[in-house]
Amino acid sequence: MATGKIGVTTENIFPIIKKFLYSDHEIFLRELVSNAIDATQKIRTLSSFGDFKGELGTLNVKVTVDKEAGTLTISDHGIGMDADDINKYINQIAFSGAEEFLAKYKDTANSIIGHFGLGFYSAFMVSKKVVIRSLSYKEGAKGVEWSCDGSPEYDMKEIEKSERGTDVILYIDDDNKEFLEQARIDTLLKKYCRFLPVPVISGKEQEWKDGKYVDTDKDRVINASEPLWTKKPSELTDKDYLEFYHELMPGMEDPMFWIHLNVDYPFTLTGILYFPKIHNNLDIRKDRIQLYSNQVYVTDQVEGVVPEFMTLMQGVIDSPDIPLNVSRSYLQADQQVKKISSYISKKVAEKLDKMFKDDRKAFESKWDDIKVFIEYGMLTDEKFFESAKKFFLLKDVNGNYYTLEEYRKLVEAEQTDKDNTVIYLYATDKTAQYTYIKAAEDKGYSVLLMDGQLDPHIVGLLENKLEKTRFVRVDSDIPERLIVKTDSKDAGLTPLQTDVMSTVFRSCIPSVDKAQFIVSFAALRETDAPATVTQNEFMRRMKEMAELQPGGGFYGQMPDNYELIVNTNQPAVKKIVELATSSLESQVAPIRSEIETLNKEIEDARKAASDKKESAPDLSEKENKVADLRKQEEDIVSKYAKEQPEVGQIIDLALLQAHLLKGESLNEFIKRSVSLL
Ligand code: ADP
Repeated sequence: MATGKIGVTTENIFPIIKKFLYSDHEIFLRELVSNAIDATQKIRTLSSFGDFKGELGTLNVKVTVDKEAGTLTISDHGIGMDADDINKYINQIAFSGAEEFLAKYKDTANSIIGHFGLGFYSAFMVSKKVVIRSLSYKEGAKGVEWSCDGSPEYDMKEIEKSERGTDVILYIDDDNKEFLEQARIDTLLKKYCRFLPVPVISGKEQEWKDGKYVDTDKDRVINASEPLWTKKPSELTDKDYLEFYHELMPGMEDPMFWIHLNVDYPFTLTGILYFPKIHNNLDIRKDRIQLYSNQVYVTDQVEGVVPEFMTLMQGVIDSPDIPLNVSRSYLQADQQVKKISSYISKKVAEKLDKMFKDDRKAFESKWDDIKVFIEYGMLTDEKFFESAKKFFLLKDVNGNYYTLEEYRKLVEAEQTDKDNTVIYLYATDKTAQYTYIKAAEDKGYSVLLMDGQLDPHIVGLLENKLEKTRFVRVDSDIPERLIVKTDSKDAGLTPLQTDVMSTVFRSCIPSVDKAQFIVSFAALRETDAPATVTQNEFMRRMKEMAELQPGGGFYGQMPDNYELIVNTNQPAVKKIVELATSSLESQVAPIRSEIETLNKEIEDARKAASDKKESAPDLSEKENKVADLRKQEEDIVSKYAKEQPEVGQIIDLALLQAHLLKGESLNEFIKRSVSLL
């Protein structure tokens, strides 16, 4: 009948673009089956409007593999095409067939037509030749065969075809032989066509016979599952949702709850999102939301389309408004997609808010499991944070839950420090930090439990967002100093005593792997512990953050910093101080005064030089002398300290409480304890 050139217009440089548009060859099958489904839906629509008066017949789509002939055929009984249609829709690829159809059946056609753009031509990604054999539904239409070997030239001729509809025959090329395997085709159809609205048939049902599976005569329908999301929520029971979930996500335990999305303005979007129970990091897989466009599977790589935090959820989203045949980076930049994403986020927040308001008890009972979703959302999505503020819960170590507002009211009076900052005390491990928690509670403080995977980040976020609020871990200081209400009173030691006692205690701290200690003194209650080990909040957080980064970064290399706080009011400590002062004063005082004299001389010399704008004289002799004297003092004091078993005992008890006493040091402690008995 005709030979011609495919009408590729300048704005439609299809053969080149297609290679870039589709990252994945396998989607040709999705495109062709979608076209077949569209054609089928169209004949249904025409028939229901009385524009087609013939027999509809069995409406299904069939995918046939013929390994010997090297072909894969997609057949439908849809509207078919005549030579004019092929010219218009296939040859002139700039002309969108969908547009014309839409114009005529705008109201109902919306849900029928996929927005698959250059769909048909994706066949050439896997074929050396493509043949279309079609018979249009139009009265008196003649069968037509079109063939093309991938160059812009095609052949078209009249043929005998008795059945209405279209066969697209792909002559699979050598690089793509995999698409001639029934098993591969089955997998693809299961993936892309599971929820299509017209039966898709491929291969035969099998039965077990003579020790193996063999084909029966019965056609196998690939898409027996119902796309639950297209139904009205009011028509569905929990059982329906759960069954659908297990169909989607085989092998998972029941989800905690779900959200059924159903929007038609300003864009069309339906879907069901399930909140799975997350037990640990391993559960977090980001390919569990499937994106559909009019029930055609598109992808499970939804980053950029749904809000980041929702990638922890599972389920389906179906929207014909998401441009599908474009690269991901394009998708992410698309304004429409951004709107959809923020809309989904809003919907999720609304649902959570409603759950919270409707039944707070039930919400609390789920909180520990859902908080990871909510926290993730708050951390990654500013708008979500704003809505989540109302239902975000803080949990204390005794299992009580508070909203942010409630908690503020609860602790404001007792836990505001001298700078008017409200201090939120928290623990990350109820057992390990037991003594610290107890001590804080004894002082009338409330202690939160922040033991979730994302809690370290939430702590930072809340400090940022809540006014005049600081989080302090219970073991980061002694109770008196967790919340500083007045300027601290001094520890009651003279400068000489402070110096000596620092050395006494420092020299007796056993070596702890990757840890550094500083010693300080505080006048606490007589009944408080003689010494406590605390870890600086800031450094600990920095290190925790660093651990999450590959390589650990700068802070990751730093040792852990601890403070040994010695209670100078505790009787045992008092005794040690008195004894050390009386035993060491006579030896240490002269050394100290010599050091002071030298230091003064060094300082004066420096000052004089700088006043005269001269460079400083060489003071190294004096400086070395000072270092020597310090060493002398240190040797005397530490030798003395080593002979005082009580010092080691006090330190070890504090280390033990902080879970830092291990191995040889622990053994030493036990031996010493026995000998002190
Ligand atoms: P799109 O489907 O996005 O319009 P395609 O390149 O996949 O783009 O198809 C172009 C047009 O060709 C379709 O709109 C349709 O009119 C026609 N067409 C493709 N496949 C079939 C088919 N199996 N039956 C009838 N018409 C078809």
